[in-house]
Amino acid sequence: MQGIVYKSTGSWYQVKAEDGQFYDCRIKGRFRIEGIKSTNPIAVGDQVRFRLETLGDETVGHIDEILERQNYIIRKSVKLSAQTHIIAANIDRVFLLITLDNPKTYTIFIDRFLATAEAYEIPCTLLFNKTDVASEEDKDEIAYLMGLYREIGYDCLAISAKSGKHVDRVKAMMVDQTSMFAGHSGVGKSTLINRLAPELDLKTSEISETHRQGQHTTTFAQMYDLSFGGRIIDTPGIKGFGLVDMEVEEIGDYFPEIFALKGECKFNNCLHLDEPKCAVKEALESGELAMSRYRSYVQIITEEDDTYRQDPFQE
Ligand code: GDP
Ligand code: ZN
Repeated sequence: MQGIVYKSTGSWYQVKAEDGQFYDCRIKGRFRIEGIKSTNPIAVGDQVRFRLETLGDETVGHIDEILERQNYIIRKSVKLSAQTHIIAANIDRVFLLITLDNPKTYTIFIDRFLATAEAYEIPCTLLFNKTDVASEEDKDEIAYLMGLYREIGYDCLAISAKSGKHVDRVKAMMVDQTSMFAGHSGVGKSTLINRLAPELDLKTSEISETHRQGQHTTTFAQMYDLSFGGRIIDTPGIKGFGLVDMEVEEIGDYFPEIFALKGECKFNNCLHLDEPKCAVKEALESGELAMSRYRSYVQIITEEDDTYRQDPFQE
């Protein structure tokens, strides 16, 4: 049988088969996934093949194959430096919630998130939330940022999870898709998800989040069906993506507008820092490239350098 993993505890997997039924499954044998040292071989969203076996009055599924992933996101273990934990796989779209105030989302956070989504090959939509309480100044800033990111090619929407403004548009983008939500704590993820899918009643209380972080326990994602078609992956306690290991030379590839200029620099290995005849620096001077984007690019390069490495996505 073939199905999709909705829940993974590390030893048990809840798989929804093509017949619409859920089956408890285990892994049979060993799985090794090329290139990743992972604490868990199978993640939420994985497409798997399994066989049913009956032991007494219990029917258990044995997973013996994972189908090729369209994409996947990981979380690096701080303690076990070489170990990664696959959070979820086969994500069609991630929605990044942004608020300018309470809490403030800085452009470095947005840009790092977008670069990581590019590296993971996950389409990303930016949702500027809490527009119902935005000041005139905030509204101007939102309009500016939406213009900036749309120009690069990202979908942007100004919404209010509280009043419901443009929530129908978010919903329309989620139909028959597997979606994820990300953003700082307090930006309105739970409020939005509750509005989109009140039947889910996701438990994202602050107490459990603090507990999880304090304990440094592994966070397990879970997938839910949406009544209007499609699925949502809930990742409690995860605010962003884990950083992909990026080579300094490839970071520019994850900034689409910088990538577009790649061939025009004098040196083909140009990092767009202090090299002569650099098309990226020229675009920055002419105003074609936003200073905030370039700053984020330089900051990510600095942090990817092993002498100064940190990951603000993970606490
Ligand atoms: P999460 O941590 O991202 O899940 O954020 P929550 O959904 O828990 O929201 C944090 C706070 O922001 C709550 O007090 C919400 O009521 C409030 N909030 C969420 N969305 C909006 C919005 O669109 N407008 C306003 N004014 N408040 C909102
Ligand atoms: Zn350059």
